[in-house]
Amino acid sequence: MKRHFGLFGLFGLFGLFAVLAFPLTVLGQNSHSHSSSRVIDFPDTAEYLSLTCDLHMHSVFSDGSVWPNIRVQEAQRDGLDCIAITEHLEYQPHKSDIPHPDRNRAFDIALGSAGESGLIVIRGSEITRDLPHGHGNAIFIQDANALVVEDATEAYAEAHRQGAFSFMDHPNWTSQRKDGIARLEETNIELIEKGYVSGIEVVNDVTYSDEALEIALKYNLAIIGTSDIHGLVDWQYRVAEGGHRPITIIFAEERSKQGLLDALNARRTAAWYQNTLIGREEHVLPLVEASISVSSARYGGDTSVLRVELWNSSDAEYSLKNSSSYRFHNVADILTVAPHHTTILLVKTITRIESIDLSFEVLNVVTAPGQHPTLELSAMIEE
Ligand code: ZN
Repeated sequence: MKRHFGLFGLFGLFGLFAVLAFPLTVLGQNSHSHSSSRVIDFPDTAEYLSLTCDLHMHSVFSDGSVWPNIRVQEAQRDGLDCIAITEHLEYQPHKSDIPHPDRNRAFDIALGSAGESGLIVIRGSEITRDLPHGHGNAIFIQDANALVVEDATEAYAEAHRQGAFSFMDHPNWTSQRKDGIARLEETNIELIEKGYVSGIEVVNDVTYSDEALEIALKYNLAIIGTSDIHGLVDWQYRVAEGGHRPITIIFAEERSKQGLLDALNARRTAAWYQNTLIGREEHVLPLVEASISVSSARYGGDTSVLRVELWNSSDAEYSLKNSSSYRFHNVADILTVAPHHTTILLVKTITRIESIDLSFEVLNVVTAPGQHPTLELSAMIEE
């Protein structure tokens, strides 16, 4: 599943050659192109597997435009570890063309389509209500039909009895929140306190919500990012042009349904959205640390300008702001670390030293509104 270790060796060799032969082309690199593959690729952290999941999507079995097997094929192209099929229970605009009294049907088709491919398909449903409940997804349910009930709180209670993990959908949705501000109603707080709702979408489709992130942190909810795709992933997120769908990265102990559910219940998640990672520092910083490593540090010629090679094994184009006392020879205080590339940083150490400690604020990683974690990098200097 994870192939970056193989690439590392190959790229390390190529990178070394490229640096020796054409140092300036690498120095000036500011490429937005991801690896040749569209596969969404993040390294595992020191402690957990980094599993890539899209937990909110639709097909013709509610208001989507495709058959469920297309959701499976899109996920396979994106190299996802898991998807949840989450048709609206209550909103069925294609019902006269596609009658389906069994609300598990879309999941069953997707599961059959995934077959033995290794893609984990999770049974879910979207509980679709006006405020105060708003929309929510119940995933890891056993039977969607039992959730078709009049009372919304009872639908969440039934999902809970089935062992579900439920989260609030797009709390910033302008059809329900004209100002785009995510807020909790008393009803939502009651569902959280009962343990019926345990997560919240901070990212949905092409929207991001600082307020939803604040709610997640205040009420100890899992931070979720989803596509909520109705049309085609490729068109909606311009995959051919280097875009990617929003996903949730789940930090799991094992690659299984139970491993995913345990990690969600422990709130070990991050959202990956438009080249930004959103999550608690204890979860996203280990991911950044697993992504960026010093592959080489050595002086050039008889100077005291240190050449540091930074290898980025992830899909993220990291934006780093220098927070050490060193100044650089090839960039100002902002450094772009391209995905699946080696980036060269030239550091003026003034005198030749034996080891170096660098630190950077990681600007495209968000741990709370306006807050970014600090990455510390240390390396022994070669020679
Ligand atoms: Zn939806």
